Amino acid sequence: MRWTQTLISTLRDAPQDAEIPSHKLMIRASLIMKLGGGLYTFLPLGLKALRKVERIVREEMDRAGALEVLMPALQPREIWDQSGRYEVLRDGMFKIRDRQDREMVLGPTHEEVITDLAARQINSYRQLPKTFYQIQTKFRDEIRPRFGLMRAKEFSMKDAYSFDVSWEAADASYQAMYDAYVRIFARCGLATKVVEADTGAMGGNFSHEFMVLADAGEDGLAECEGCTYAANLERAERATPARDPETTPQHPEAVVTPGKKTIEEVSAFLKLTPDRLIKTLIYLANGKPIAVLVPGDRDLNEHKLARALGGVTLQMADDQTIAKVTGAPVGFSGPVGLKIPVYADLDLKTPRVAAVGANVADTHLRNVLLNRDASVTEFYDLVIVREGDACPRCGKRLREKRGIEVGHVFKLGTKYSKTFDAGYLDADGNRQISVMGCYGIGVTRTLQAIIEQSHDANGIIWPLSVAPYQVCLVVPNTQHAESVRVAEDFLKTLEAQGVDVLFDDRDERPGVKFKDADLLGIPIRVVVSERSLADGKVEIKLRTEADKKMIPLADAVAFVESIIRGEK
Ligand code: ATP
Ligand code: MG
Repeated sequence: MRWTQTLISTLRDAPQDAEIPSHKLMIRASLIMKLGGGLYTFLPLGLKALRKVERIVREEMDRAGALEVLMPALQPREIWDQSGRYEVLRDGMFKIRDRQDREMVLGPTHEEVITDLAARQINSYRQLPKTFYQIQTKFRDEIRPRFGLMRAKEFSMKDAYSFDVSWEAADASYQAMYDAYVRIFARCGLATKVVEADTGAMGGNFSHEFMVLADAGEDGLAECEGCTYAANLERAERATPARDPETTPQHPEAVVTPGKKTIEEVSAFLKLTPDRLIKTLIYLANGKPIAVLVPGDRDLNEHKLARALGGVTLQMADDQTIAKVTGAPVGFSGPVGLKIPVYADLDLKTPRVAAVGANVADTHLRNVLLNRDASVTEFYDLVIVREGDACPRCGKRLREKRGIEVGHVFKLGTKYSKTFDAGYLDADGNRQISVMGCYGIGVTRTLQAIIEQSHDANGIIWPLSVAPYQVCLVVPNTQHAESVRVAEDFLKTLEAQGVDVLFDDRDERPGVKFKDADLLGIPIRVVVSERSLADGKVEIKLRTEADKKMIPLADAVAFVESIIRGEK
């Protein structure tokens, strides 16, 4: 392809709203163009790279035995009512009406549609296991679309769904997808970290996320310095620190703390470090008030709390409820004398002398011993893990990292198959329910994550497997007829071998061409110039390396091909 015949308009500066390197580079390198918030057009260069990612995904899905289907993005509302998710996802979905005034949604995901497919198409155990997949546009009314393709309103996802005769069989389907994901991201040149992930309010289930480590990542992760344990912060656990039990002969003493509500205020006022305070939070669990206690220097992890309580729906209690159950305004709740269930972080199980809210306006209690002065219904690991906590597996130090979630594999169980009656007749002719898994890869997000992980100050550094072009052919001086002739020969020969070549045939200064070649990040740069040809050579440079090599003209094509085959 000749530069002058395609459409590449590189930019020196990124637009204001591009905050992270990959977003800036995608715009500057003319891969995508913004239409509106969270909406992007793929320009020819960007689409070429996207198609390569899709191809890798498709090949690995096929290799794993998954069957490709294509489901409608436009879906009747009824199917969402049937699963009960219309209410759950309501604000996150784009909802529209047809001319008969029937409500439709633009699919944010396809569990409903695929389970309906399975319910109608699968009858017998002989047809199982089956894994279906599609690569398709999803629509989500994200609260904060940002970072370009990372969090868009319209994006491409590879979603797959497995149907099995049993939980054990479903494990094998899950593993097959997990393995395929490992291959997909490796082939995309991406280093990913697999972490245990939260499954929402579905108890017993199981899931892993594939994360690309990056400062710009929206997910927090914990990883162990000593073993392989790694988890999303939504899920990450910690070993409870060992402490010496404390005691005191003194009894709780009320202290007036006028207007001191936050941990910082109370800690400064009482001259106690935050770990000498106990934070009391009032929640509604499935609508019923509960109290939750965590050490004053820690934050509650609502996901862990919800799971510990068997997958309840949690809501922070409103001011009125707090006043009703504690007898005091917000900011002065404490465990002493509460008549509702009290759940506390495991770290509080070892008695410690602490201060708590007194359940009286403008008052706290000092010298409280939880085991003596209050009654705790149950202790669980409830706090958000942070750097330096102990690994739940091996006790070594946990580190905090940031990551971009590019893929998610999830054991679903029978939640959807029950609702849509997706089952099969077993060998004895009895009707059974299928066990499902679901598996997503953000294809467009993956494309951008590759750039986030692989760039430098000059531009993108594409891995060969997904680079829009593998070779960038530069003729610094297009007035030199011999250079142009050699370059055109080169272009023709390489293209005939199936190599993607971009020939920069613009009448531009060499400096501009070299800068653009770096910005576009094409892995192999071949320069044909008057000077190199004087020695019968061309100059070959890899985007990943600083050194150039002078290769005899006659060997140049073979040399490029050997790089592409991974031999050089
Ligand atoms: P996130 O927590 O980032 O919102 P999610 O848990 O909602 O992701 P899933 O529903 O599991 O994501 O979707 C599967 C994959 O689709 C994700 O792993 C991610 O790579 C991608 N994805 C999700 N939302 C978006 C979005 N708004 N823009 C681009 N890709 C997305
Ligand atoms: Mg989301």
